[in-house]
Amino acid sequence: MADSSDLTLGIVGAGTMGAGIAQLAATSGVQVRLFDAMQGVAPKAIDGIATRLARSVEKKALSEADAARAVQNISAATSLQDLAGSDIVLEAVVEDLEIKRRIFRDLEEILGETSVLASNTSSLAIASIAQACRHRSRVAGMHFFNPVHAMQLVEVIAAPETAPAVSDRLVALAQRLGRTPVRVIDAPGFLVNFGGRAFTTEALHILHEGVAGAADIDAVMRDCCGFRMGPFELMDLIGIDVNYPVTKIIHEGYWYEPRLSSVPEHGALVQAGRLGRKTGAGFYSYDDKGQKILSPADPETGIPPARIVLPGGEEMLTTLATTAGIPVAGEDDGASPIVIAPLGEDCTTAALRLGIDPRRAVAIDVTADTSRRITIMTAPGADPTIADAASAWLRGTGRGVTRIKDSPGFIGQRITAMVANLGCEMAQIGLASPADIDTAIRLGLNYPTGPLAMADKLGVSTTYGILCRLQEITGSDRYRPSLWLRRRALLGLPAATV
Ligand code: NAD
Repeated sequence: MADSSDLTLGIVGAGTMGAGIAQLAATSGVQVRLFDAMQGVAPKAIDGIATRLARSVEKKALSEADAARAVQNISAATSLQDLAGSDIVLEAVVEDLEIKRRIFRDLEEILGETSVLASNTSSLAIASIAQACRHRSRVAGMHFFNPVHAMQLVEVIAAPETAPAVSDRLVALAQRLGRTPVRVIDAPGFLVNFGGRAFTTEALHILHEGVAGAADIDAVMRDCCGFRMGPFELMDLIGIDVNYPVTKIIHEGYWYEPRLSSVPEHGALVQAGRLGRKTGAGFYSYDDKGQKILSPADPETGIPPARIVLPGGEEMLTTLATTAGIPVAGEDDGASPIVIAPLGEDCTTAALRLGIDPRRAVAIDVTADTSRRITIMTAPGADPTIADAASAWLRGTGRGVTRIKDSPGFIGQRITAMVANLGCEMAQIGLASPADIDTAIRLGLNYPTGPLAMADKLGVSTTYGILCRLQEITGSDRYRPSLWLRRRALLGLPAATV
């Protein structure tokens, strides 16, 4: 353990975040002074820390001597005045601008000129808190994630007047605490909360358009796109009363940028009190044990087709047909399913462009991981026996099949391209470096990769093409590709190229 006398961290607010950060700092050898306005809260938080550390000793995750030293490193402050002499003070009180401003104003009177003042705010502009101070260059954001002991990421946020040396000191503190800091500019939602808007809002748009239900969208994002949780499962877990206002604030903060918009059903759930798991219902309903109540799937009645027509000759689909013993024809025989694999197009547009019979066209998403689940869609007016037959064929290969209504970009292409596009836009506006964008989204949101790496995996030019077609077909600027993505696609460069 490092020498415990070289750095003193004052923490204001001993709630969930303040106590978590205090424990982390104390176990990293930092001297912590913990203050809370509610009498008794800071000592109680320290008792809680001591109990958790004792449990770590029992589990042999920490030595008894290190646990004892960590507890000795924390003291409860009885007033803000007790934080005098701190090198850095981190504020983690309720999310209220006026309260935070008052604390920062008071701290300036107490602390020496070289002390750094940081806020753990999730949603307030650092600049608006710094306004309360005379020396604004020493104010920055230091955004830890909940639960502090498990979350590796820390956003270090620089307001327009923050001195670079101040951000450097907070980056060094985060590293000292064994965390991974990323440098972000002061903008609505900072990096992680902003970057998280595409996954959930695009899923909401797909739901809103009646393309697929929540369970189908979640299954595709888990099985094909490698997300640990689907967007609706995630929103139900976080709480829609948390997710909805964050979405709204960030949409407004970016001047109603259409890429960030949500849909009416989102707010309606909040109004109905369906807030997710905590109320027993959100996008899903839950039983007494917290298990999702899902309506049983309709039985599949189709039989595999005698042959398929594959005008594009996609290798993956040829292999799947061969595995199932289904002959593949390149030319239309006038009766068999015509299987196509559009990128960014709906089945209708692709069928018309290819000049094939839209009633027998079956569009299959061949992007992402198709080893467990495959998404298929048909055009309006399609012969239902054709989609049933295609579904029976694909199920016969041991895969799950998700049948959706006609949509440009299916589910996976749409959501993946939108996550990647928002990452590219973050790079374009200089919110953070491309490397930090990918690190932050991976660590802060648990995505399988960062958004720029996601564009590379799908293919930068494929991602760009999907978005161009989505924009063209829907007529919505929501899908306009970021200029960052466009230039790298045209130049054939990886997405993170600066
Ligand atoms: P919390 O409600 O658990 O704790 C806040 C504490 O601040 C309380 O103990 C309260 O008594 C104390 N407090 C209120 N006014 C005070 C004052 N004037 N002086 C000193 N103490 C005061 O809140 P939290 O969840 O720990 O959140 C704290 C901050 O961290 C907020 O800005 C929040 O946005 C941010 N944050 C929260 C999370 C999260 O998931 N909880 C994640 C990241 C960031």
